[in-house]
Amino acid sequence: MELDIAIIGGGPAGAATALALLNQGNWRIGIFEKSTQPVFRVGESLPPSNQFLLAQLGVLDSFKQEGHLPSLGNASAWGEKTLAFNDFWTSMGGQGWHLDRSRFDTWLLGEAAKRGAIVMRGRQVVGCARTPNGDWNLRVKHQEGNVTQVNASIVVDASGSRSIFAHWQGSRSIRMDSLLGLAAVFPVDGSEALTTHYTLIEAVEFGWWYAARLPKNQVIITLMCDRDLVHQYGLSRPKNWTTALQQTDHVQRLLKGITNPTKLQVFPAFSQYLDQTSGENWLAVGDAACKFDPLSSSGIYRALDSAIQAADTIKKFQDGQDNAFSSYHLQTELQFESYLEQRRQYYSQEIRWPLSPFWQRRQGYLTLSPKTILSFQSSSQVTTRLKRLDKYFSSKDLYLLCQLCQISKPASEVVREFLRQTHRKLSAYRTIEALQYLSDKQVIHAA
Ligand SMILES: Cc1cc2nc3c(=O)[nH]c(=O)nc-3n(C[C@H](O)[C@H](O)[C@H](O)COP(=O)(O)OP(=O)(O)OC[C@H]3O[C@@H](n4cnc5c(N)ncnc54)[C@H](O)[C@@H]3O)c2cc1C
Repeated sequence: MELDIAIIGGGPAGAATALALLNQGNWRIGIFEKSTQPVFRVGESLPPSNQFLLAQLGVLDSFKQEGHLPSLGNASAWGEKTLAFNDFWTSMGGQGWHLDRSRFDTWLLGEAAKRGAIVMRGRQVVGCARTPNGDWNLRVKHQEGNVTQVNASIVVDASGSRSIFAHWQGSRSIRMDSLLGLAAVFPVDGSEALTTHYTLIEAVEFGWWYAARLPKNQVIITLMCDRDLVHQYGLSRPKNWTTALQQTDHVQRLLKGITNPTKLQVFPAFSQYLDQTSGENWLAVGDAACKFDPLSSSGIYRALDSAIQAADTIKKFQDGQDNAFSSYHLQTELQFESYLEQRRQYYSQEIRWPLSPFWQRRQGYLTLSPKTILSFQSSSQVTTRLKRLDKYFSSKDLYLLCQLCQISKPASEVVREFLRQTHRKLSAYRTIEALQYLSDKQVIHAA
């Protein structure tokens, strides 16, 4: 098979990229989706802002026919015990939706197919190579086990947070945290608290809960907590999860009339980004490029938005703009930096548990003093340790920080020099956080 553009992954980002491209011209586009049929996915809240992107993709009217539940906003106990209401109607000028997520994903993929994309379900991309003329050759494994080859001029990695194609190109995922979502779905019969069309959010000492109504008279209740704390408190065991839920002020009201879960689904919800979101004739979109905290309910929005940006990038490249792919990377990087700042602001509104590691990790809690003397001594042991680090910064940036500490100096000088040398729009906070990480991992020495 010969394609202009091969899209790996048929989630919202992959389907939207095909739609955005097909709005611009007649490309031969193939979407490879490894699942054979729709699977259960979390990510059901769609704030009103998404309708502008769905309109831009030309599918808003069709979306409105799909009958997803309306969502009026959020009711949150965040920063205080009592619930505060954020009405989408007043804050965002309209209503949002609580999606039947697998139906939404299937519908969007169907829209891409109607526009002319070749959608191939049960096809997993398992390898890639460059052809002599610079095209990509993808190895595609069929559900039946046989493997076929596909050539494409451009590849879009929409494979979700595993970013498979980007990783094959040598990009690395950089994690900002180890957030997990532990979810259970219940039938809603008999629970008076569920008549509401608000997403319920409640902060607790070791994380936060959210509950949202799903179609087919169901509700999803999810605990968001860091991986180490989940292990420490045994929260992945349904019994402990239920006990923790019973201790909440608001979300526990949803338990009335429903039985305890026998099984929890665990979803990684790390905020993370790729150190390279694009390269020669490829780019990553959606979660494959950057993954956002579910608190923002913006995963689908970002998937659609990055798809539109990716299509523009491909068009610019075809029109002869050689730096289109590298500009896309810079733009994505900038958007992620500004998201991190917003995330810190949201989490800083909760000050009831100043000693809780969960909140400290997200609120800009710094232990490093500007006067602390930092030093780095290279050795094979330290280099091995450094190679394994994948948090906060790319390994290139972590190396640079270490090099700057080779001659001992105060932390403030290291930060200033790093920001001068990287030429990127980074906050000093981000750099200090990375220095603390290097010091905690005993790669640099702080005295
Ligand atoms: C707990 C939790 C709650 C969330 N809540 C919300 C919310 O309320 N609102 C919101 O907007 N977002 C939410 N999100 C985020 C949202 O679900 C994601 O951001 C969104 O799904 C990203 O879409 P995507 O297309 O980039 O990736 P995905 O939806 O992950 O799709 C990637 C696709 O690629 C396919 N694939 C992977 N590898 C291959 C391969 N090798 N070959 C072929 N196919 C492959 C996968 O099968 C998958 O279908 C939440 C996330 C979590 C974890």
